[in-house]
Amino acid sequence: MDLFEYQARDMFEAHGVPVLAGKTATTPQDARAAAEEIGGGGVTVVKAQVKTGGRGKAGGVKVAKTPDEAQQYAEQILGMDIKGHTVGTVMIAQGADIAEEYYFSILLDRTNRRYLAMCSKEGGVEIEQLAVERPEALARVEVDPNVGVDEAKAKQIVEQAGFDAETGAKIVPVLQKLWEVYRDEDATLVEVNPLVKTGDGQIIALDGKVTLDGNADFRHPDHAALEDKAAADPLEAKAKEKHLNYVKLDGEVGIIGNGAGLVMSTLDVVAYAGEQYGVKPANFLDIGGGANAQVMADGLDVILGDDQVRAVFVNVFGGITACDEVANGIKGALEILGDNATKPLVVRLDGNNVNEGRAILNELNHPLVTQVDTMDGAAAKAAELARTK
Ligand code: GDP
Ligand code: MG
Repeated sequence: MDLFEYQARDMFEAHGVPVLAGKTATTPQDARAAAEEIGGGGVTVVKAQVKTGGRGKAGGVKVAKTPDEAQQYAEQILGMDIKGHTVGTVMIAQGADIAEEYYFSILLDRTNRRYLAMCSKEGGVEIEQLAVERPEALARVEVDPNVGVDEAKAKQIVEQAGFDAETGAKIVPVLQKLWEVYRDEDATLVEVNPLVKTGDGQIIALDGKVTLDGNADFRHPDHAALEDKAAADPLEAKAKEKHLNYVKLDGEVGIIGNGAGLVMSTLDVVAYAGEQYGVKPANFLDIGGGANAQVMADGLDVILGDDQVRAVFVNVFGGITACDEVANGIKGALEILGDNATKPLVVRLDGNNVNEGRAILNELNHPLVTQVDTMDGAAAKAAELARTK
């Protein structure tokens, strides 16, 4: 889960990372009140809260000299579209007297099974561009997950980034605090751009981006409150409630399978078969082992709730869960759904107890269900039933 800047700011503050005061507003009037409170009549910055970078360039970050101006800027920025994200909230932040802008991030380096810290004296700008154009200006330092960014590692990072001794010494403790955020909150990314030095020599995290690892949610009951419920896809939200591994895609053929690997290859096969008929897979849904009637009904219910779906492909390889159990699951699901089952289902069963499973569905003889014995054949049938051309 990606956090909004203001959420990252609050998290930084809670961990002792130096930040400036900030307050959110959803109306120009509230922005004005926040500017009065935070700016003390002085300079504030009105910042669009959207989960995308480059807000500054897009006109979503404005320095306001007075609360009046903060109100005017909030009026401009609220409702603005930034790279497909509509601004519903702004943060009014205390203005910073920026002398220099730096860059720092720490992220999960899956390939090397480590963390990677990146740091540059040239922050503020788009870091991707810097990395391509002048890679030597961006220090990349491996971080051992068992050690983290301790003082020695933080010193190595600032040294490699080329900071002078005085500035480096001021940045080191901030990097250690940012590491604590990364570790204690189970983040996969903590990025500060810019990390600034102010006119009076203080180091402050001015813009933060944090991605939290959803796999660690069980350790962080407080993270649930950070979720942006308004932005969640309603089908994905429904699936999450039912503990289904569902990802909405843009397509017409609903997919249910058991096992992530099988579902991934089902997506490929359906994408291929669908070319001919102008259709694509509508979702990823792995119902895992078990596949009882309720899980199957929950899965079908979510998929049938997708208006774009025109047919569903249920692709099951019986392993630990035998095909007859899955067939009974489908039968039970159709009973549970009743009239809510409205679209054709193509079922391919193979593996453990396949004959028993197929017999159950043959006997059921449900008007919506077609059985096809092979995965390719079933994909082609489902694509044909969903055809748009
Ligand atoms: P981003 O464009 O989405 O990365 O948004 P940032 O929060 O990084 O802001 C973009 C730029 O606006 C920064 O790099 C700064 O140059 C400038 N900026 C942000 N806050 C302040 C501030 O308090 N004072 C001044 N003078 N400039 C600021
Ligand atoms: Mg930034």
